[in-house]
Amino acid sequence: MNTTTVRLTALRRLHREVVALDGVDLDFRSGSFTAVMGPSGSGKSTLLQCAAGLDRPTSGAVEIDGIALGGLSERRLTLLRRERVGFVFQAFNLIPSLTAAQNVALPLRLAGRRPVRAEIREALARVGLEGRTRHRPGELSGGQQQRVAIARALITRPAVLFGDEPTGALDTRTSRDVLVMLRELVDREAQTIVMVTHDPVAASYADRVVFLVDGRVGGELVAPTAGRVAAELAGLEVVAC
Ligand code: ADP
Ligand code: MG
Repeated sequence: MNTTTVRLTALRRLHREVVALDGVDLDFRSGSFTAVMGPSGSGKSTLLQCAAGLDRPTSGAVEIDGIALGGLSERRLTLLRRERVGFVFQAFNLIPSLTAAQNVALPLRLAGRRPVRAEIREALARVGLEGRTRHRPGELSGGQQQRVAIARALITRPAVLFGDEPTGALDTRTSRDVLVMLRELVDREAQTIVMVTHDPVAASYADRVVFLVDGRVGGELVAPTAGRVAAELAGLEVVAC
């Protein structure tokens, strides 16, 4: 497959006098898994928020599935975000009083759709949680809760799934399980994934690693190994200090 799901062109984002993004050009291809890394404050979260339409860049363009977000009204942007974009964070952000199935159904309800039970079951099965539909978040492990959050992010079949340190709150073993699952979503279903991480092992599950330094793309690795990622990162941290 050779199409681009997300295209960032000359992206700049200023927070008052702080330059969070300083001219980023990046393409995320359909069905690819990209890790975004870089020192703290290098602009990773800002990049993801702009790419997902959660934040508006100061200048430059974001396209998702060929649609330029800059030209959309707030209403259309909200709709596009709801339907074409999934987002997971380090915190799972599940609603404690709702079951796994009800949490996963939320985006559909927000969109005014009545969720079909089979659809919810299938979404939970996709993340390996069949049989957990009636559990509440408090009755699930951290890894299982993050899987529910991922199922919720994927329920609308978004063009792209963004994760800002999605395994950051998980122990090593659980985080590997979630990474294997993300990798399978890419390999089996051609899901496009863009994930911020500071863990070289997590990044090694991606097809490509993009390194940010001071709001700019400072390097890339294709078919990354944890060792090469760690070496590259060590170099960047030295440069950034
Ligand atoms: P990262 O995720 O790589 O740690 P961020 O994208 O969060 O980096 O931040 C990039 C830069 O932009 C930092 O200098 C940060 O302090 C600044 N920044 C981010 N968000 C805001 C905000 N809402 N207001 C002011 N400055 C911000
Ligand atoms: Mg961040």
